[in-house]
Amino acid sequence: MKKLGFGLMRLPLLDGNNKNIDIEKLKDMADAFIKAGGTYFDTAYPYHQGMSEVAFREAVVKRYPRSSYTVTDKLPIFAIQRAEQMQPIFDEQLERCGVDFFDYYWVHALGSESYETAQRVKAFEFIAEKKREGKIRHIGFSFHDSPKLLEQILCDHPEAEYVQLQINYLDWNDTTIRAKECYDIATRHGKPVIVMEPIKGGALANVAQGAERLFKSKEANMSVASWAVRFAASLENVMTVLSGMSNIEQMQDNISYMADFKPLDNEEQELVMTAARMIRESIAIPCTACRYCVDYCPKSIAIPEYFAVYNNLKRFGPEQRIVADTYYSNLNMEHGKASDCIKCGKCEEHCPQHLPIRDYLKQVASEME
Ligand code: SF4
Ligand code: SF4
Repeated sequence: MKKLGFGLMRLPLLDGNNKNIDIEKLKDMADAFIKAGGTYFDTAYPYHQGMSEVAFREAVVKRYPRSSYTVTDKLPIFAIQRAEQMQPIFDEQLERCGVDFFDYYWVHALGSESYETAQRVKAFEFIAEKKREGKIRHIGFSFHDSPKLLEQILCDHPEAEYVQLQINYLDWNDTTIRAKECYDIATRHGKPVIVMEPIKGGALANVAQGAERLFKSKEANMSVASWAVRFAASLENVMTVLSGMSNIEQMQDNISYMADFKPLDNEEQELVMTAARMIRESIAIPCTACRYCVDYCPKSIAIPEYFAVYNNLKRFGPEQRIVADTYYSNLNMEHGKASDCIKCGKCEEHCPQHLPIRDYLKQVASEME
């Protein structure tokens, strides 16, 4: 179980509100994870609008001895303008999680703009100081940008012990995410990698039919998602693969092959790359549903939800039309429509996938409205 981490960003909900986490279901998932030998929990300040950290406290911290788990949290650099903001946020995170120290603590989601902020407010110096104080055991950063910037950050900050990268078989050779190049750079710098988005926000659990047939012809009993987690876990320099599990079935599925993990062999690696080519041709909008964009939209547009509706419609065709229309109009009742976008671009500044969200919303509006 060393290589499976429990990502606490897509937790089961009581209703449609992202803040209302179903704590009882989370307890069952945490119990199954720990029973199977899992220890690594990953949360962050913005997940579930601040409630992921609280849910972790309720489901794990209050119910298990501190030595039986590790917790990773992150400095939300995208929400920080001044150095004085870091200490109160850090204290709030310790309190929300109910712990005295974090095992791992990253500067969250670095990209070119947020790295400038991190340098200006001395974010790395701040987390190194917390490490000296015993409030953090290990420091590092999570990253969503070009190989060139990754190289620069690792040269500027050799004190970073780990790097969290977006790695999955679809992004491995992708010309925007460039996962392989980033992985190679981290490895060359001797930094173990923690993998985020191994299933690309769920997209690699529900793939194009041709790719699904390919996977099933090789291993009829293994889930499609398992190929994605196993691909990431097979990389030698990967310490942990985070899976943002949303229900007990996903947890049990992950445990079934990660408890006694066997890396993919050469033939399986080739099969995964063939599937990646098929899938790439079938995804209309490659959104991972991370939700980093949503809080910045002045029109409260349900960006990831609209993209999911659109992707399903494009993938499954006219038979999905009624379902797609229903979802779309339900979402319209509480959110701005795709056509309400005023093209301010605030969402795109925060999208780790660098998606042209405004253009995609135009496509969604013309299809759905
Ligand atoms: S560009 Fe459109 S979707 Fe993006 S933040 Fe502005 S209004 Fe919202
Ligand atoms: S549009 Fe970008 S930031 Fe928004 S949910 Fe999708 S991947 Fe995340």
